[in-house]
Amino acid sequence: MKGSARYAATATHRERRKGLRFGLTWRFSLALAALLLLVVGTLTLLVLREIEVNQRERVEALLKQRSELANLRVQQTYLANPLVDAQTFLRRSGPQLAADLGSLLSGAHVVLYDANGREVGNSLPLSRTDAVRDTLDYALQGKIAYEVSEDQLIYMAPLMWTIGQVGVVQIHYSLQADRLFYDSVAAGMRNIGIGALAFSFLLGFLYVRRVVRAIRSLHLAAGDIREGRYITESPVKRRDELGELSEGIAYMSREIKSSFERQKQFMGSVSHEFKTPLTSIIAYTDLLDMYRDDPQLLEEARANMRKEADRLLEMVEKVLRLSELEQYEFSQRAEAVPLRPLLEEAARRLQAKATQLGIAIRTESEEVTVMADRESLVHIFLNVLDNAVKYNEPGGRVDVSCSMRGGNAIVRVRDTGIGIPDEARAKLFEPFYTVSKDRARLSGGTGLGLSLVKRLVLLQGGAIELLPSASGARGVTFEITLPIASSASAAHEQRLQR
Ligand code: ADP
Repeated sequence: MKGSARYAATATHRERRKGLRFGLTWRFSLALAALLLLVVGTLTLLVLREIEVNQRERVEALLKQRSELANLRVQQTYLANPLVDAQTFLRRSGPQLAADLGSLLSGAHVVLYDANGREVGNSLPLSRTDAVRDTLDYALQGKIAYEVSEDQLIYMAPLMWTIGQVGVVQIHYSLQADRLFYDSVAAGMRNIGIGALAFSFLLGFLYVRRVVRAIRSLHLAAGDIREGRYITESPVKRRDELGELSEGIAYMSREIKSSFERQKQFMGSVSHEFKTPLTSIIAYTDLLDMYRDDPQLLEEARANMRKEADRLLEMVEKVLRLSELEQYEFSQRAEAVPLRPLLEEAARRLQAKATQLGIAIRTESEEVTVMADRESLVHIFLNVLDNAVKYNEPGGRVDVSCSMRGGNAIVRVRDTGIGIPDEARAKLFEPFYTVSKDRARLSGGTGLGLSLVKRLVLLQGGAIELLPSASGARGVTFEITLPIASSASAAHEQRLQR
């Protein structure tokens, strides 16, 4: 049965894993890669565009300067000997001028045209020029024009003199070096981009895989806790939010485990403690079955059965109250309660029992008002006073005092009774703990009183402790600390003001 349940759990787990195949690791890594691709791509495009613009501007400026230089040189040559008109001059001196300009412009290929667009000079006479007709027509209208053919930029500028346009100068510019530079930058960017992409993808993948593994460990831990296999150690050790979450899960698991064990122990004790009086009652009924006519037995049985039944009832009431406190955090109606009347009332209610046992109760209280639930306070004082009477000796005393210390009320209940051995002190407030079974049975104790008292005191924001007894002194002193009303309301006001 257990095996098959386990198998079923593993199977669903496997299915879930299948569902996780395109899990966080891949999603995150791919998203990171896509983002990086976008960034690197955009950056590359921007850089390349910038280089292109820069190159074009530089070439345009250079060629403009060269064409102006050419224009000036041709004009100067003409003006040095202006015997014929400009067009005749260009036709005659064109070849020589083109050659001169070629060497002047560091070996550039230069072509000269007259005002009709006829070629009059060419620094490289064998080259063909018909492809540039359209551009030339444009330049003949007094405008700068250029075109790109293969890795050559063919630039044309009008030869403008004071008399108007006399022709066109055409200068070739090789784009090879610029292209090489552009290509090498593009290749570099591409390589860096691919490298960065691969590297960051790998880094992202490894990192996210670690995170996902941690999440998976937490998931498994949660599954274990769900199936009752509590963990004590934090399943993931990291110094980040996941580590904190893991610590939290481990803490929660420890808490659930200890609360579960406490409850189990409590239930065990409850059943065990209930058994004793019931067994005793059953034993008496058996005896009565056997000796129906024994009047002495009848009386003894009646008295004892009543005592055991009372004990049972008291236990049931206390257990119910304890579990109520445990489950509902108990709705406490805190109000200002003057302690003196309350303590005197508790003493009065125990007076009959005390007189019966030959014990004197004395209360001595300052006027102190605490902020607490009245019902709970009554319960607390009755229980502690009852113990002080119950575990006392004939001729003994119980002193109840109340004073103020700091922002607290201090209630002390001192008795001259049988005392509590040192080894019992640590367990005194645990449910069902009794110093000795005989003592408890004799006094009709249940071992629940002090655990209930402690829980109630804590709910009032107070504390209870058994004071260390002075050597040689008889009895014990319990000290209960409770927050006083004025300071409680002052603190409240302070909080409101803030
Ligand atoms: P009970 O109902 O048995 O009195 P409590 O929880 O009130 O249970 O007390 C637990 C045990 O502590 C008691 O069994 C008793 O032995 C011991 N005890 C409590 N108060 C006193 C006291 N004033 N003097 C001596 N022993 C005490």
